[in-house]
Amino acid sequence: MTTIRTGIGFDIHRLVEGRPCILGGVELPHPTGPDGHSDGDAVLHAICDAILGAAGLDDIGTRFPDTDEKWKGADSRDLLRASVAEVRGMGWTVGNVDVVIATEGPRIAPHRASMRESIAALLEVTPDCVNVKGKTLEGLGALAGGAGVAVQATCLLHLS
Ligand code: MG
Repeated sequence: MTTIRTGIGFDIHRLVEGRPCILGGVELPHPTGPDGHSDGDAVLHAICDAILGAAGLDDIGTRFPDTDEKWKGADSRDLLRASVAEVRGMGWTVGNVDVVIATEGPRIAPHRASMRESIAALLEVTPDCVNVKGKTLEGLGALAGGAGVAVQATCLLHLS
């Protein structure tokens, strides 16, 4: 019987003026923020996909479609809470989550601890079960210069 499952998630958003810079459920002091139908929190979206993926539950776009007015301006924390509740209802417990945030927009390092705490609270795990890493892009590619944020996340689920 399978007792552990892993999942991977990825998300990418443009960073635009006039939007709050919410990543990992934390508002960062930055002049641009992730564009999107919801609050654009690419970190929580990638984590959602990792968790849903580990549980075999398709993906965030299927479960919370951006064509549905219900999710316009959605607080991504609600999407993550709903995803976690669903996998927990299937008997899974979140073991750990690891996240890479690639951007040349906001600096991630000063906010890693608060992001870990924010994400851990949403997952109902301790902050040591959540890791957050910021990466710059060496000035390469379409995200160079702070044009966007790309996030990878992995999740391990185990049976309770
Ligand atoms: Mg997204």
